[in-house]
Amino acid sequence: MPATPAYPPQSAPRLYVDVELNEGAEIRLDGSHAHYLLKVMRIKEDQPVKLFDDRTGEYLAHVTMLGKRDLILRIDGKTRTREDVPDLWLLAAPIKKDRYNWIAEKATELGIAKMVPVQTARTQNGQIRPDKLRAHMIEAAEQCERTALPMLDDLIKLDALLKNWPADRHLFFADERIHDRGEGSFRKALVAHGGPAAILVGPEGGFSDTENDAIRALPQSVAVSLGPRILRADTAAVAAISLWMAGRGDWN
Ligand code: SAH
Repeated sequence: MPATPAYPPQSAPRLYVDVELNEGAEIRLDGSHAHYLLKVMRIKEDQPVKLFDDRTGEYLAHVTMLGKRDLILRIDGKTRTREDVPDLWLLAAPIKKDRYNWIAEKATELGIAKMVPVQTARTQNGQIRPDKLRAHMIEAAEQCERTALPMLDDLIKLDALLKNWPADRHLFFADERIHDRGEGSFRKALVAHGGPAAILVGPEGGFSDTENDAIRALPQSVAVSLGPRILRADTAAVAAISLWMAGRGDWN
């Protein structure tokens, strides 16, 4: 006899909805949500779905009505309260679309609070699509069980970013030109600099000399090395976030 399946099954679809959820409420889903549940997941009546709203938390719901292009879910109960996200921003110069989307996805999984696209002198691809980028972040958040979405800022020019930099936030500047590993040790920098933080990663061509000087001139900036090899911008972003998460985030 097959064992009674655990409820909810591990495979319960998990979706972000842009509306405040409440225990006991019913919610109608249409559009891409309905397409995903009906056509991709082939969901049936009574089956469980996890929902989170980025406002209050995560809920368990079940299907009460199946339509052709929409469905109704009843929210049974709250499973988690919205989490406190570690206070880390990722500032990343746009690179090729697929790789930039990849950064957004991985940064979301790794736990950032906010992503800020930064336009620099050597940014090849200033044409980012915020809607697409956000869709990647939402999908990653759904998959990795976040209960809070990272914020996504509009593209900002590097000089404007530096000019208005918050006094209380460290800016860890990933600088591949550091050759003195002692001076540029990220591990040591993390021990010395706690509190709100951001990581700045350049485009594939790196920062110009002028930009490098301007970033270093900011009192809150801490130049750090990610080792003796030159990393691609996407690798650098993921490596730096991981280091910060392990040292100052919620990985411990
Ligand atoms: N200057 C190079 C490569 C830039 S790599 C060139 O001329 O092509 C892209 C970005 O990744 C850099 O701007 C930097 O922020 C980050 N990065 C890459 N390797 C790094 C390393 N070893 N240490 C710190 N940051 C690094």
